[in-house]
Amino acid sequence: MLSRTAVSISAVSSPTSPSRILSQSIPNSTAFPRFLGLKKLLITSTKCNTKKFRSSSRMESFTVRASAAQPLKNADELIDSVETFIFDCDGVIWKGDKLIDGVPQTLDMLRSRGKRLVFVTNNSTKSRKQYGKKFETLGLDVSEEEIFASSFAAAAYLTSIDFPKDKKIYVIGEDGILKELELAGYQYLGGPTDGEKKIELKPGFLMEHDKDVGAVVVGFDRYFNYYKVQYGTLCIRENPGCLFIATNRDAVTHLTDAQEWAGGGSMVGAIAGSTQREPLVVGKPSTFMMDYLANKFGILKSQICMVGDRLDTDIVFGQNGGCKTLLVLSGVTSLSTLQSPNNTIQPDFYTNKISDFLTLKAATV
Ligand SMILES: [Mg+2]
Repeated sequence: MLSRTAVSISAVSSPTSPSRILSQSIPNSTAFPRFLGLKKLLITSTKCNTKKFRSSSRMESFTVRASAAQPLKNADELIDSVETFIFDCDGVIWKGDKLIDGVPQTLDMLRSRGKRLVFVTNNSTKSRKQYGKKFETLGLDVSEEEIFASSFAAAAYLTSIDFPKDKKIYVIGEDGILKELELAGYQYLGGPTDGEKKIELKPGFLMEHDKDVGAVVVGFDRYFNYYKVQYGTLCIRENPGCLFIATNRDAVTHLTDAQEWAGGGSMVGAIAGSTQREPLVVGKPSTFMMDYLANKFGILKSQICMVGDRLDTDIVFGQNGGCKTLLVLSGVTSLSTLQSPNNTIQPDFYTNKISDFLTLKAATV
């Protein structure tokens, strides 16, 4: 097995732009991919007044606040202190296909107070356009420009490193990734159609793969199979400099409201296992999307409040980005989990649901 060194990589597009901090394990014995854009990379240290630890399972850098989360008591104060709210979707805006109570009124109130609203999701199965339809179906007026899914983040990352247009991308994932790669002008193969492919092992059987594949993008994939594992593995192991990009490493996802289901981390883990490489993660808690948003809208990260229902993705995402953080208990995290002595991730504030912004506001007038 190759020995590995875990580093934080900060990619900067200009000397004055906010840094992008991505975590990746880099094999010591392999050359850095040529088209990763070495001029954009530098090693960084982390912020002060926080403590940092490294999760051995994720090889992610987590930045954790030491003080316990406070119940949100004065929503007006929080609202006035930021100009942008980034909302996670599932567990915050909706649960499955059901809108959470009070969301439309809360979003309307924030817009009326001049706040910028952005919706970020690790779910890569849909493109921004497809998410736009979901918002519309739920009666929410949200534009595509306000939606950032990890499917888009994968395409945006490739664009940010000037990934060559004559190279191809092998996709283990669903339609959302394909649509975003297509919009970004990339050639791809794989995706749902490879879900139908089977391997018949017989003596001497050898799987051919495309030597022009320069990146493998892995996201949640309901059509995951051994063909895809082998194809992606061959590309990463045998094509010089081939990138391994993950939309997220979520352990579980909520396909139905009856139980938790194996998440995108299970597909990513399979490829990490066979290649002995760690992926470059573009979804939460990596700050790629946060940095992209800050650059796109020209906003200071200290002027952002990240609102989410998961500690290890949403809250760490906000903290890694230097934002204020609000945990809502309308999704996967319970108050007892937040307050457990075993939990080391503490948001700035917590509340039951985002519509508490309305009632807590009224109580303070
Ligand atoms: Mg969520």
